Amino acid sequence: MISGKPVGIFGGTFDPIHYGHLRLAEEMLELAELDQLRFIPTGTPPHRDAPEVAALHRSAMVGCAIAGRAEFLLDTREVERPGRSYTVNTLRELRAELGAERSLCLLMGADAFLQLHTWHEWQSLFGLAHIVVGYRPGFRLEERIPTAPPVLQNEYRQRTANVTALAQSAAGGIVELAIPQLEISATDIRQRVAAGRSIRYLLPETVTDYIYQHHLYASC
Ligand code: ATP
Repeated sequence: MISGKPVGIFGGTFDPIHYGHLRLAEEMLELAELDQLRFIPTGTPPHRDAPEVAALHRSAMVGCAIAGRAEFLLDTREVERPGRSYTVNTLRELRAELGAERSLCLLMGADAFLQLHTWHEWQSLFGLAHIVVGYRPGFRLEERIPTAPPVLQNEYRQRTANVTALAQSAAGGIVELAIPQLEISATDIRQRVAAGRSIRYLLPETVTDYIYQHHLYASC
């Protein structure tokens, strides 16, 4: 028996958060009919280079960006946790807090999904949450999946589900959603700030103000 609407979980370095992230979150909220979406800035990400600025600043910028949007929540558990942050541990905590009957939806892009088999205890993720994969229109996961390792292909074939599954079960489905993406990247924003170029209209003004007030990315 499922209780309440699904809870979305959106992890990222958010270094800094920008309108690409926020539009993706907004589309996911709407298409997956989520009750709430938790932005979880990563602590020490296992899969990429260390973020440019301190976790404290990255979290604060997420807070600035989502202020006033009641369904968007900032969840700082990964930046507060010492050591490496693994999604599987975050999901275990959330599952313990929200109960076995709540639908949890882990949001990610198609590129991230194609690397899922490299994540810590990746097969345990399916017992804890649904995986919701946002793909650019024109980029079909189905076309890329034949080149993925057979273990990932098997999970994909067995678990592919319709969006309605997110409200009907607590975990275990893989749901694809077509989401237009804005051509904005955090890397580009950092480089622009370092070069003294404008970042206006790429991210919320409150975040831009925060970046300048705290002299972030000036020497990237
Ligand atoms: P960087 O440029 O530093 O690599 P990033 O924005 O790609 O940053 P994250 O902050 O970790 O990296 O992104 C979090 C999630 O948001 C990832 O799943 C990523 O695919 C997605 N994302 C990033 N930029 C966009 C965008 N413009 N449109 C939609 N999704 C995005």
